[in-house]
Amino acid sequence: MIAENLQEIRSRIAAAAHRAGRNESDIKLIAVSKTKPVEMIEECIKAGQYVFGENKVQELVHKIPQLPEKLEWHLIGHLQKNKVKYIVDQVELIHSVDTVALAEQIQKEAAKKKCDVNILLEVNVAREDTKSGFYMEDVYDACRQISKFPNVHVRGLMTVAPFVANPEENRVIFQNLKHLLVDIQGKKVDNIHMTELSMGMTNDYEIAVEEGATMVRVGTAIFGARNYGEKNDIN
Ligand SMILES: *Cc1c(COP(=O)(O)O)cnc(C)c1O
Repeated sequence: MIAENLQEIRSRIAAAAHRAGRNESDIKLIAVSKTKPVEMIEECIKAGQYVFGENKVQELVHKIPQLPEKLEWHLIGHLQKNKVKYIVDQVELIHSVDTVALAEQIQKEAAKKKCDVNILLEVNVAREDTKSGFYMEDVYDACRQISKFPNVHVRGLMTVAPFVANPEENRVIFQNLKHLLVDIQGKKVDNIHMTELSMGMTNDYEIAVEEGATMVRVGTAIFGARNYGEKNDIN
């Protein structure tokens, strides 16, 4: 079932990319495996999926050593400063940097471990009380501050769009995030080369791809529903 789901999602991503005049190879599918057992991740690997996202540090560090080294791991959930040390050298990309202080902590730990860390800044485009992330108007200033951290590299922006019945409602959210990315690119901050847009989940990834997503984070459509309420599901 997982293999068929992956195939279906890949073809939907390709179709959405083509509708927007894009190439599907410019979009990375991140399989969000949170709460799911390593056996299901192994099924994904058999189906050619090597990129995975987790939202909890503890779960991530528990799963990584049980699986092949060739996998690429993305941290997509809220990160507490005291947990940075466990993951700085374990993940390809941290999607959920939501304060300059967190980026500073990542710098400290990265310097200790002599590694470089790629991050995205999480943006609360819809200004929801329940979500973390920078407000749009604060992102540029945050970029400038973070650009001074030599081991931390801002690669782009991420958002978790609102939970809506009709995914079309989120199109404007994705457009706004894309505009912000282009806007900041145009300002040419040293050490900031932002190209990635991590946006779109099970309900709205096709729209996100139409609007320029370079990474989509899909869980439910690959693995099926998770065993807890949707409410405290995200971050
Ligand atoms: C859980 C989660 C996802 C995946 O959500 P689905 O609706 O199951 O596809 C994507 N991004 C973040 C940040 C998440 O926490």
